[in-house]
Amino acid sequence: MLKKHNFGAGPCILPSAVMEQAAQAVINWNGMGLSILEVSHRSPEFEEVVLKTQLLVRELLSVSDNYSVLFLQGGASTQFAMVAMNFLSEGKKAAYLDTGYFALKAIKEAKLFGEVDVVATSKDKDYAYIPDNFKVDAGSAYLHLTSNNTIEGTEIFDFSATGVPLVCDMSSDIFSRKIEVKDFDLIYAGAQKNMGPAGMTLVIAKNEFLEKGKKEIPSMMDYRIFRDNMSMYNTPPVFSIYVAMLNLLWLKDQGGVSGIERSNIEKAKLLYAEIDRNPLFYGTAEVAHRSRMNVTFQAIDKGVEQAFLKFAAEKGIVGIKGYRTVGGFRASLYNALPLSSVAVLVEAMVSFEKIYTDKTVLELE
Ligand SMILES: *Cc1c(COP(=O)(O)O)cnc(C)c1O
Repeated sequence: MLKKHNFGAGPCILPSAVMEQAAQAVINWNGMGLSILEVSHRSPEFEEVVLKTQLLVRELLSVSDNYSVLFLQGGASTQFAMVAMNFLSEGKKAAYLDTGYFALKAIKEAKLFGEVDVVATSKDKDYAYIPDNFKVDAGSAYLHLTSNNTIEGTEIFDFSATGVPLVCDMSSDIFSRKIEVKDFDLIYAGAQKNMGPAGMTLVIAKNEFLEKGKKEIPSMMDYRIFRDNMSMYNTPPVFSIYVAMLNLLWLKDQGGVSGIERSNIEKAKLLYAEIDRNPLFYGTAEVAHRSRMNVTFQAIDKGVEQAFLKFAAEKGIVGIKGYRTVGGFRASLYNALPLSSVAVLVEAMVSFEKIYTDKTVLELE
């Protein structure tokens, strides 16, 4: 059994039952006398895995038949370019909402293919909120959103219709809460934040939207090629898909997305309440836009920050250091992180405060 409390932002914690099944499959998959790492992706056994994983995605997110579910490679970062390569071209315009680090990366890639209209930005407050009341030009090929800003710790809770196709990077909050897939034309997510291990990218796209895509693009960048070949135009990330399937089965056992959403809300509430109560820490995102997946907060000064990191590490808490450009703390509360781990972090903050009020930071070090 793993003993650390893993608050890492990605690759993320996976349920220990999933790890154990995955480990067994590496040694001898389903008693076939073969490892999952060496079976043909064209074998009926593996084709069944792909099919089952697609069905689980459809079931857990209530994806209707006019959408395709695809498993790609290259991470969400490849999607930044692939979306634009398919749907944007010279003379066309796409709208982007600038909500932080990953949104900016998507904007940078899109500019290679056509005109990018940044409809709003929250840069003025270090991306501590989600802009609203922005206007989207009706002629835009699509509007691109980042539903959860992994580094800044903000999350979009309102996906109001804007009249143009909606494309959304859901890398860090997919399967963490209920969404209406029908509100979106294309959703993409690197798997390693809530779905499974690194190595695969989930795409859920409306078929009608895919038909609007450009034709003169490389096969590996063409969504339709993946759709028409059951995500096996080339060798797919076999192991990643398999572990994602195990993880989605686990999720189904937790009451599906609505079950896990209840638990995610409870975890986030517990941690934010302590951040707001404890005089040594403060949250960085505006309350209404606080992410339930990535909780970002700061200590009142650098000395407290360093001392608490050390204090927490001694309690088996790992992965709470903020992103290198942001500093401070970030505790990621992905699906597989149990409430008990959040309780351990909260207790550590409480006892750290008690010790701190008696001693100086230098003495703690
Ligand atoms: C992690 C992350 C990415 C980058 O994903 P890769 O799979 O590493 O390319 C993009 N967008 C968001 C919101 C992320 O959290």
